[in-house]
Amino acid sequence: MDDRLPALIDVARAITGATTFDAVEAAVCESVVSLLRTDRGRLISWADLGSHGFGSFLDRAVAEERPVVAEPGDEQDHLRRLGFCAGLAAPIPVHGGPTWCLLVTQGQPDKAFGEEELQLVGFITALGGAALEHLAKSEARFRSLAQNSSDVITLVDTDGLVTYQSAAAARVFDNSESVVGRAVRDWAHPDDLPAFEQALADAQNRQHVRIECRLMHAKGTYIHVETTISNLLDEPTVAALVLNTRDVSERRRLEDELRERALHDALTGLPNRTLFHDRARHALERGLRERVPICVAFMDLDDFKAVNDTFGHAVGDELLCAIADRLASCMRPTDTVTRLGGDEFAFLLEDTELETAVAIVERILAAVSQPVALAGTEMVIRASVGLTCTEGLYTDADQLLAHADAAMYAAKAKGTHGFELFAPEMQAATEARLALRREIDRALRSDEFRLHYQPIIDTCTQQTVGMEALIRWEHPKRGLLTPGQFIDVAENSGQIVEMGQWVLLTACADAARLPPQTYISVNLSARQLQDPRLVEHVTDALERSGIGADRLILEITETAAMADTEGTISKLHELKAVGVKLALDDFGTGYSPLSYLRRFPVDLIKIDRSFVFEIERSSADLAIVRGVIDMAHALGLRAVAEGVETEAQYAVLTELGCDLGQGYLWMRPAPLDEVVAVV
Ligand code: C2E
Ligand code: CA
Ligand code: CA
Repeated sequence: MDDRLPALIDVARAITGATTFDAVEAAVCESVVSLLRTDRGRLISWADLGSHGFGSFLDRAVAEERPVVAEPGDEQDHLRRLGFCAGLAAPIPVHGGPTWCLLVTQGQPDKAFGEEELQLVGFITALGGAALEHLAKSEARFRSLAQNSSDVITLVDTDGLVTYQSAAAARVFDNSESVVGRAVRDWAHPDDLPAFEQALADAQNRQHVRIECRLMHAKGTYIHVETTISNLLDEPTVAALVLNTRDVSERRRLEDELRERALHDALTGLPNRTLFHDRARHALERGLRERVPICVAFMDLDDFKAVNDTFGHAVGDELLCAIADRLASCMRPTDTVTRLGGDEFAFLLEDTELETAVAIVERILAAVSQPVALAGTEMVIRASVGLTCTEGLYTDADQLLAHADAAMYAAKAKGTHGFELFAPEMQAATEARLALRREIDRALRSDEFRLHYQPIIDTCTQQTVGMEALIRWEHPKRGLLTPGQFIDVAENSGQIVEMGQWVLLTACADAARLPPQTYISVNLSARQLQDPRLVEHVTDALERSGIGADRLILEITETAAMADTEGTISKLHELKAVGVKLALDDFGTGYSPLSYLRRFPVDLIKIDRSFVFEIERSSADLAIVRGVIDMAHALGLRAVAEGVETEAQYAVLTELGCDLGQGYLWMRPAPLDEVVAVV
């Protein structure tokens, strides 16, 4: 046998190197043919032994657990009937017991099998057995890996048929009917099928593909899964696409929930700005295609801040929810009502003519103004609405909303709790406001603000007792601007706080240059009153200038004081504690119950100039001014008349006993040096 050693080594290599059953079988059979120089060999399954017609011959090999040659008699008769002259059978031991039998046959009558052939076959079957055992083990290892994994492992052959699926499938997919033997494409949700098939095709080319899709759960339903597909077609023990599938429906549910949240307002549950934009964009695309008009309305509640300030945020939130419910009930199924934030709402009215939109807006305004029972009282809230209609003009959702917003601003400015239709000049106003805001920032940094002063006169002595500081803006291009041209914007943007702090510091510093009996009056805005650092800013200005606190008067408009009555009262007490004096400005314009006057710890009341203006001609105004002065005196307060322009007005006011006056009659506001030179 020594001269056959190289051939034996080749055989051994071929058999043990085979990595699939078919390859082992082929290597074994080829070895038999080449080493035994015989016609053919074949493997017969142990289970099938009886059905091959070789009778006891194969049984004997298995029973004796060694290769045997067909013996004369029954065994050779059997072979001859099948057309063979000689035969040899050898069991292939796998896992200790034979599962396969190697049958070697010879058709040439002159050749018989002897001891040498038995030895060679023994050698071949031992190797074959080892190879099959190894294969079985690695396959078992692969399978056990698959079985223990919580992922579902599915093998798909090149024809797209499922050849195997791990046990986890029963649990994850709850499928009583196995998909094994069926086309894997039948498993995917029809909508996800193209992507699923693409992934399978990609996997054929590449190594690794990942896809998220829906696969069939118990009949008819689907679950979201994540599947990675590995191409193990060239891996002989597997020879398949391996789909590793994991149930991600829980994760998807969470994602859906998060998306839902991201698109809805948490407080009211209404769609939010993002969703509004999304829908508006689609509506606009459709509107353009189908030539249908789209209307957008923008609503802002009037004086909502007062509700928040007076009753607290919890009540404010409840009110918003109550309003949101009402709004939703005003809408048609195709409309979208959105909370943009704060007390702002937007409405998208698709395929809607302006006339219809107007009717809807009127319905909305009526619904909003119905009383709401909250915090133990009946509350009535009003709103202002801006409305715009595309009529095939715009294509941009942002622009549409900006137009509705601008119209809302115009409605607010009218103060009638109604609605306005967008007109191009409104847009210009919005843009101008934004530009102004940016300019104010610049002006604050580059020190463009100035203070002018207007004397406050004692009506008896005609002496200047104080001066009101009035802000001016020395605009590099537009010249000197008065507060009416910028203070609203600064108030709305919050820039007024920084501006006001500058006014306090400058006015106090200026006061240090005035005679010690002259007081200085500084206007505070509503925003400043709510600023927690106000008292700190005031004391800081007093300390830096060195003036006594009693020389500073802070003017608060009646409207600002009323916005948050309780909060203001305690803030005013804090300021009083510092030692400053307080004045209630523009008195008579705030519609506040006069009983409130008692509760504000003020020292002066400034009668609004609108009452002074007609005082000689209007008996009604005269009566009011007289009443206010009398009441002020009754409360121990001094009265100041604003906007005194004529001697006649002055005469009436003196007669009514008004303590102080301020107006063009004496002097227009001017820079400090000019005022000091005159008084
Ligand atoms: P206000 O506090 O009522 O100030 C008086 C306004 O009346 C001033 O307008 C003044 O120029 C004007 N005025 C004075 N005498 C007469 C008169 O005889 N006839 C007429 N027709 N008007 C007269 P101004 O300076 O334009 O200020 C307007 C408003 O801007 C002020 O009203 C005040 O509310 C606000 N403001 C001014 N400076 C400041 C400031 O530093 N901070 C804050 N928060 N607001 C300020
Ligand atoms: Ca004032
Ligand atoms: Ca005033």
